[in-house]
Amino acid sequence: MIHNIFDNVKLRDGQRMPGYGFGVYKAAGDGLYSALLDAFKCGYRYIDTASFYRNEEVVGRAIKASGLGREELFILSKIWPSEFADPAAALERSLSLLGLDYLDGYLMHWPGLDRERRLKTYEYLLHAKADGKIHVLGVSNYLAVHLQELHDRFQLWPDINQIEIHPLFQQKNLCAFCSARDIKVVAWAPLGRGGAMSIPQIEELAAKLHKTPAQVILRWHVQENRIPIPKSVHPDRIRENADVFDFELDDGQTRLIDALDLPDNAGRTGKDPLLWPTD
Ligand code: NAD
Repeated sequence: MIHNIFDNVKLRDGQRMPGYGFGVYKAAGDGLYSALLDAFKCGYRYIDTASFYRNEEVVGRAIKASGLGREELFILSKIWPSEFADPAAALERSLSLLGLDYLDGYLMHWPGLDRERRLKTYEYLLHAKADGKIHVLGVSNYLAVHLQELHDRFQLWPDINQIEIHPLFQQKNLCAFCSARDIKVVAWAPLGRGGAMSIPQIEELAAKLHKTPAQVILRWHVQENRIPIPKSVHPDRIRENADVFDFELDDGQTRLIDALDLPDNAGRTGKDPLLWPTD
C-alpha cells in the first residue's frame, strides 16, 4: 500500500509507477491547463489522458509549464480501437501532441470487437516498448477473457489493466484475476463519476471520520492496493482528493464499503467491453 502521493508501486516486470493519479477525461482548454498546474502542486505525478479525450496538447503544455523534470512525471495515454488500423501513427500522434519522445504508460483503451485486430496492435506495441517509446504497456477495460487471449498469444500478461471501479461497481472477480497474475489494477471513475459520494453509508462514514465522502472512497481504493485516478478541475477538490494519507479505514469500515457492490453489474456507469465500442 502507498503511504503518500509520491509513493511508487512495483509492477510485474520490476518497473515502477506512481500509486496515485489524476484523470483528465472531459476536461479541456484553460480549465484543464490550470487544473494540471494545481494538481502538480498537490503532488500528483501520474496524468491519465487518451487520444479519445482530445486534450493531449493541453497536457503537453502544462507539462512544459510545470517546471518538473521529465523523470519526475508519469504521463499515460491510450490508443482507441479505431486507431488499431495504424498503431504506429496513433502513438506518434500522441507523442507529438504531448511534446514527448516516450510515454511512461500506453494502454489499449478498449479491447474492441475484433480479436485479430487488437492482438496485432498489441504485437506492435510490444515492439514499441522494446524500442523504448513506451515504458509501461497495458490495457483498459479488458475482461479475463481478453487478458487470457493476450497471454495465449504472447505468453505474457500486461503490466496494468485500467477498469471501472467504485463502491457500487467493484468487479471483484476481475480484480482477483488480475492480482493473481500481478497485473496492477488502475481504477477509473474511482468516485463513480461523482455519483458514489452521495451514498448514505459513505456520507455517514465520512462524517464519523471527519473526512469528505470523496476522501473516504479514495482511501478505500488505496487500502485495496488499486491506483485511483480521480478527476476534478476545481482547485479545492484537487487538493481534497490528494489528501487521503492521514487516516485509515478499519476492517469493519472497509467491509461496509465492500458490501455496497451492486449485483448484476447494475452499478456500471460505462459500457460493456464485450459490446462496445463497435468502431
Ligand atoms: P471520477 O469518478 O473521477 O469522477 C469525477 C467527477 O466527480 C468530477 O467530474 C466531479 O464532478 C466529481 N468530483 C471529483 N472530486 C470531487 C470531490 N472531491 N467532491 C465532489 N465531487 C467531486 O470519474 P471520471 O473522470 O470518469 O474517471 C476518472 C478518470 O478515469 C478520467 O478522468 C479518465 O482519466 C479515466 N477514465 C478512463 C476510462 C477508460 O475507459 N479507461 C473511462 C472513463 C474515465
